[in-house]
Amino acid sequence: MKNIPLFDLNFGKEEEEAVIEVLRSKWISMGPKTKEFEDEYARLHHSKYAVAVTNCTAALHLALRVCGVGVGDEVIVPSLTFVATASAVRMIGATPVFADVVSLDDWTISPEDIKQKITKKTKAVIPMHFGGHGADMLKICALAEKYGLKVIEDACHAPLGVRDGQHLGTLGDFACYSFYSNKNMATGEGGMLLTQNEEYEKQSRLLRAHGMTATAYDREQGKEFYDIVDWGYNYRMDDIRAAIGVAQVAKLEADVKKRKMLADRYRENLVDQADVSIPFSQYPGESSNYVMGVLLEKGDRKEIRKLLAEKGVGTSMHYPPVHQFECYKEFSTELPFTEDIGCRELSLPLYFSMTIEDVDYVCDQLKLVLTKQKV
Ligand SMILES: *Cc1c(COP(=O)(O)O)cnc(C)c1O
Repeated sequence: MKNIPLFDLNFGKEEEEAVIEVLRSKWISMGPKTKEFEDEYARLHHSKYAVAVTNCTAALHLALRVCGVGVGDEVIVPSLTFVATASAVRMIGATPVFADVVSLDDWTISPEDIKQKITKKTKAVIPMHFGGHGADMLKICALAEKYGLKVIEDACHAPLGVRDGQHLGTLGDFACYSFYSNKNMATGEGGMLLTQNEEYEKQSRLLRAHGMTATAYDREQGKEFYDIVDWGYNYRMDDIRAAIGVAQVAKLEADVKKRKMLADRYRENLVDQADVSIPFSQYPGESSNYVMGVLLEKGDRKEIRKLLAEKGVGTSMHYPPVHQFECYKEFSTELPFTEDIGCRELSLPLYFSMTIEDVDYVCDQLKLVLTKQKV
């Protein structure tokens, strides 16, 4: 029997050596490695600016703050996402307004439903690029322009992603990324903000580090003592993580390429299966394939996951809809596609070191398990 986890890290000597180098340099907090990581991340994503932060939740919070979103404002978000997309809105004191996804095939936020939910209080929208597949940014940005809304991309799933010929992460006012350990690239905890707006970049750097006009590293380099010019946070990345980030970002293009090959194989193997359907069949772009999600057309998901686990296959669910969580009940609404997908979605293993044979094994086991399931 094989053992195929849901996810595995792509770490090697490069990451180990990068960390040791920083430890020996004795500059372990935010400094030159963080800058190097930012520059390389921006370059690969065709972005003018990149600001490294502690995690994506902090990135989302910072983006909302710099966009001027505050108490009493409404922010339109998907519910088929990780909770942080909505909790960042709560952190700033604003109200999350949940919108449905496009369809059972396109699991990104629906521009039509966004339009329905715009009110006088709406200040921003946070599309999330599900599983590496971009939301319809052309339509969303056109709506934002018309109604004067800010757009913050939750691009955690979509490093290097493309939709409609455009680079995801460069289309909104900000884009936010996570380097939590199960993402396309990992630093343990970590995040990045991309923006094309010079003023936003300056504000983000300032608020990331307490609103201080000079960081400790700047002062080490001879800058004057600091003033505090705004109410800031401590959302700094450190150079130990940034060094891992520099090593990981060098592997990102290969990661996305390999994932595409594996995801294509999953599609090939499962396309004729009546018992599952695979979303994004018409995706107009290149996905980062962060999640290999399928929709179960029959059977008991809990039972299916248990039987797959017995065959050494790790699975997960993306996502339990946020609007159905206890703490979000007061913001709840009806989102038919999101609720349906939330009950029937199954995420299959997908990561760089997986092989075609592993994908075939997972698909064979899934087919076997499904044939035993009642309708
Ligand atoms: C992982 C993730 C986040 C949160 O990232 P952290 O770095 O853990 O704060 C937010 N949104 C989405 C879609 C994610 O996948």
